Amino acid sequence: MNIGVLALQGDFREHIKSAQECGHSAVEVRRISELNQVDALILPGGESTAIALLAKNYDLIDPIRTRIKAGMPTYGSCAGMILLADRIVDGVQGQITFGGLDMTVRRNAFGRQVDSFESDLNFAGTSLHAIFIRAPWVEEIGPHVEVISSVTTPDSQSHPVAVRQNHLMATSFHPELTHDLAVHRYFFDEVCK
Ligand code: GLN
Repeated sequence: MNIGVLALQGDFREHIKSAQECGHSAVEVRRISELNQVDALILPGGESTAIALLAKNYDLIDPIRTRIKAGMPTYGSCAGMILLADRIVDGVQGQITFGGLDMTVRRNAFGRQVDSFESDLNFAGTSLHAIFIRAPWVEEIGPHVEVISSVTTPDSQSHPVAVRQNHLMATSFHPELTHDLAVHRYFFDEVCK
């Protein structure tokens, strides 16, 4: 597959490397012509407000929305999760997303307790070490969204941190920052098929 990584801001280089290590070709996407050539798209971690603003300036909002609606497999990590959400809590005024995933995410959700942390998670039956950096969590999901992984906060509440809806997947954490390719492989092998 030819994997595109939205390369406007954030850790897109790490996602390119992960996709290549999984045996796929991976390219940076900044233009509509580049978007048109990819089979699947990754929205990286970074700052969702900055990525949305740049996507607007690069005239990429509608083309990406159109491809997502047409079934292009898309994976968002952290800021990318926010960009795939239909609804945001604690976004900036008027913050736009590409949407597609029928969920509400809370931006900087863990930040009220702890800014960044690492945690061992069960992800689709395998255990993995996850890095969270000013991460969102999933506050509410629609009936077709499947929870793949959750985290329990010190107040004993469980919060989804990895979800999937058909051809769309999102994680609150950053698998591109670890050497474990399990999450990328799940996206390529299960979500993209
Ligand atoms: N807090 C950031 C945002 O709102 C996301 C952080 C990240 O991607 N590590 O976009």
